[in-house]
Amino acid sequence: MKKKLIAGNWKMNGNLAANEALLKGLLTGVGQDACQVAVCVPSVYLAQCQTLLAGSVIELGAQDVSAHESGAYTGEIASAMLKEFGARFVIVGHSERRQYHAETDELVAAKAQRVLSSGITPIVCVGETLAEREAGKTEEVVKRQLAAVIHTNGHCISEVVVAYEPVWAIGTGLSATAEQAQQVHAVLRAQLKAATPNADRIKLLYGGSMNAANAKSLLAQPDIDGGLIGGAALKAQDFLTIIAAAS
Ligand code: PEP
Repeated sequence: MKKKLIAGNWKMNGNLAANEALLKGLLTGVGQDACQVAVCVPSVYLAQCQTLLAGSVIELGAQDVSAHESGAYTGEIASAMLKEFGARFVIVGHSERRQYHAETDELVAAKAQRVLSSGITPIVCVGETLAEREAGKTEEVVKRQLAAVIHTNGHCISEVVVAYEPVWAIGTGLSATAEQAQQVHAVLRAQLKAATPNADRIKLLYGGSMNAANAKSLLAQPDIDGGLIGGAALKAQDFLTIIAAAS
């Protein structure tokens, strides 16, 4: 059976002292037999976290990346740079990037391609807004978002991780039910199956107010291979409880 992946998304939180305390708490509590675990930290803290996590089972990730390889793109960070600081994962297409930075499906797909070409695994986020869900457009939206990534990445699609994150569930405390999440995950799995014979290998994460209380039932669903965790990833005990539920 494939190991589940629990990835924390710290968003724009933390400082040198808080990062150290959080990672030390996680390192104390995480066992060698745990599921796959990653923390996606603000890029300026990659070096600090790389040092603190050296030799541990917790992997490192970033939260965004440039679609360009290098050059005159002031303020952007290249995938190869993330790689130098130990990033194994990069989140691309998080709804906060789509919403506040107008990232399109095509840009997200290009970022995923750039990340793959530097040997890092992109965690590609898809998800509908509340208005889209209420209009009965959930399937259409997530399939369109994923289709762009499949189109651009061809057979490499089997190397990505996909995170279904309903926008209305992110940071709201209002998680999708296990049934709602599984229903969308099954749609995404079917779409991936049509694109690659290796679709069963692809990890499909659920994200959106996953916490210590609801993780077990979400993670018990057949097409939910892990979680992308925001708020609960900032509290060592909560994150460890989610990791235990996935292990
Ligand atoms: C996220 O930011 O990816 C996320 C899922 O956040 P939260 O767990 O806080 O809803």
